[in-house]
Amino acid sequence: MEEQNLNYAIATLGSHSALQILKGAKDEGFKTIAICEKGRDRPYRMFGVADEIITVNRFSDLPEKVNELRDKKAIIVPHGTFTGVMSQEEIEKLNLLYFGNRKILKWEYNRQMQREWLKKAGLILPKIFAQPEDIDSPVIIKFFGAKGGKGFFLAKNADEFHEKMGKKQGNPYIIQEYIIGAPIYIHYFYSPINGEIEIMSFDKRYESNVDSIGRIAAKDQLDLGLETSYNITGNVPLVVRESLLPEIIEMGEAVVKASRKLEKHGLIGPFSLETIITPELKFFVFEISARIVAGTNFFINCSPYSDLKYGHPMSTGRRIAREIKLAIQNNQLDRVLV
Ligand code: ATP
Repeated sequence: MEEQNLNYAIATLGSHSALQILKGAKDEGFKTIAICEKGRDRPYRMFGVADEIITVNRFSDLPEKVNELRDKKAIIVPHGTFTGVMSQEEIEKLNLLYFGNRKILKWEYNRQMQREWLKKAGLILPKIFAQPEDIDSPVIIKFFGAKGGKGFFLAKNADEFHEKMGKKQGNPYIIQEYIIGAPIYIHYFYSPINGEIEIMSFDKRYESNVDSIGRIAAKDQLDLGLETSYNITGNVPLVVRESLLPEIIEMGEAVVKASRKLEKHGLIGPFSLETIITPELKFFVFEISARIVAGTNFFINCSPYSDLKYGHPMSTGRRIAREIKLAIQNNQLDRVLV
């Protein structure tokens, strides 16, 4: 069987969760290709995860390499950088073997459609305020395309909103209810081959400067006139209170079920729900990612949950390669490359 896998290569852009994806692919017996921006290939060489490196000036030049990748029977695995540099249309047009369902991505790209999907799944979402004058509780103002929460700010009423918006005026944004609670990012995997959902792991984020503000006294925070920012710098692993697991499993299943009503084939492979849990243990879901998330990077070896299930190293990256391998063995590649 290993020999049959070697007919295919697994390729991904050299960024985000590529180390994990490529390592996992090698562990499952595939050849691996890292597509790197010029001068940014060192991690992929240093850690020995790529059998081959293809260099591009910018990731967005990927379409220029399509023929070369097709010749190598490469299956591209998308991640956050990939969906960040390629538009929905470009991804749908990309003439490459692609892991997952590229049609589902538009439901992630568009915030309005994302809410529709999550509501269809019966999940609880933070309220959206149509205009600043409607604000009647703490809110977070989120700018579109602000990768990793840069520039987001909090307000408790319209006056504060206008005051803080200041020179940011003109950038598209949404005003969302701010939920006070514990942020937990859930990493799932849905296998169309065995029809099951799996919990892979959990993380919370390590963001600058919000995660360091608590290290200085409240008086100093005020004196310094700090502005909070949520720029992501890393991820912190978590285990959740065990009694929350049944609800977490049901939430994931509901999201997959709803996805099938949105697009034929629905969601395939890894996805993540970004949640805040209130003191009453109510889950508010504020975002979905319909692909692997970087919070899984901590678990290249295993998470407590994948250890329970597999008893040997199984990262989300490796789980993707395992799914492709299972699909090849069952002659069902068309169910995972959509
Ligand atoms: P990404 O696309 O990388 O996930 P983003 O730019 O969409 O990032 P968010 O993840 O939506 O940003 O939010 C950034 C930060 O703000 C996170 O720490 C998150 O926990 C917090 N946050 C977002 N929405 C809410 C909310 N409604 N209530 C409380 N905290 C929130």
